[in-house]
Amino acid sequence: MRLLVTGGCGFIGTNFIRHVLAVRPEVSVVNFDKLTYAGNPANLTDIEGEHGGNRYSFEHGDIADAGRVRDILERHAIDAIVNFAAETHVDRSINDSTPFITTNVLGTQVLLQAALDRGIPRFVHISTDEVYGTLGPEGLFREDTPLAPNSPYSASKAGADLMVRAFHETYGLDTVTTRCSNNYGPYQFPEKLIPLMYRKATAGEPLPVYGDGGNVRDWIHVEDHCRGVLLALEKGRPGGVYNFGGASERTNLDVVRLILKLTGRSEELIRFVKDRPGHDRRYAMDFTLAARELGYAPEHSFENGLAATVDWYRANDAWLASVESGAYREFMDRWYGD
Ligand code: NAD
Repeated sequence: MRLLVTGGCGFIGTNFIRHVLAVRPEVSVVNFDKLTYAGNPANLTDIEGEHGGNRYSFEHGDIADAGRVRDILERHAIDAIVNFAAETHVDRSINDSTPFITTNVLGTQVLLQAALDRGIPRFVHISTDEVYGTLGPEGLFREDTPLAPNSPYSASKAGADLMVRAFHETYGLDTVTTRCSNNYGPYQFPEKLIPLMYRKATAGEPLPVYGDGGNVRDWIHVEDHCRGVLLALEKGRPGGVYNFGGASERTNLDVVRLILKLTGRSEELIRFVKDRPGHDRRYAMDFTLAARELGYAPEHSFENGLAATVDWYRANDAWLASVESGAYREFMDRWYGD
């Protein structure tokens, strides 16, 4: 089987490609990535050396470029597409939503149309719990919870999810959509909460926490998510939607405190800053459908997984420094004012 993985140079795509190549010797992967500020080809350099030209190859390009997508599907005998490619940072979407629509909505539609035209047998679309909006103190998101996105990012992901649904309902394209809670683990870009706070803590800089720090997220180790995506690819019902979670709800403040503890820094570094506009209060996932139909269960406990992640960042300082390009720094400095 030959997979086209889009966005494979990003955080989850990188982990997914590594996972698939490790556990499915019969599968080969074509990684199609635009290499935005969030894409780092160095994440997979060792894989290229190991499997180059044989089980792994890289194609540079934009999922919203129909000609380029067609060209890639014509040159590689693709059996399934797994679409991770996206603009993913909520704060950036508040700053400018345009690239979110172009990549997340238009890009997904271009891929779907190309898959339909080429008769690609399987299309797995990676989405997020954020499409459901926000929860109060009780309850969980289920797959039939109405979509109610509150940020330009989540609205663009919901738009993509609905286009995937439409291609299944209208044309019978064999699609599966996965919706997952907050991921953490190796190779996460340092604009996201955990690596950002790790970076600030180790530098002895103030750690900015939105609002009162009481916003709750469910944390899933990226390896658990990758196992879930592979299960969805192999066993998911055509047209199916599956939630994945880590059964690890924590407030942002809890997460920040844990990182300070793991890095040996004082809680005096915590700075409460003006809340993010439209900030969802709580996300939590009911993943019983994925457990029942796919056999999914998270394996990592949050505290152990976080400690291992901090160890990974500690051992990979050079990686962290290398992804912090000029463009990245410019946005972060402007947005967080440090
Ligand atoms: P990321 O920002 O780390 O990586 C995104 C990748 O997509 C980058 O390599 C980037 O270069 C590539 N890309 C962006 N625009 C592209 C385009 N037009 N064409 C081709 N490639 C393009 O993202 P991530 O955190 O790895 O997230 C991957 C997917 O998982 C996204 O669809 C995201 O919505 C979803 N998701 C993420 C989380 C999370 O906690 N990170 C949770 C749930 C769902």
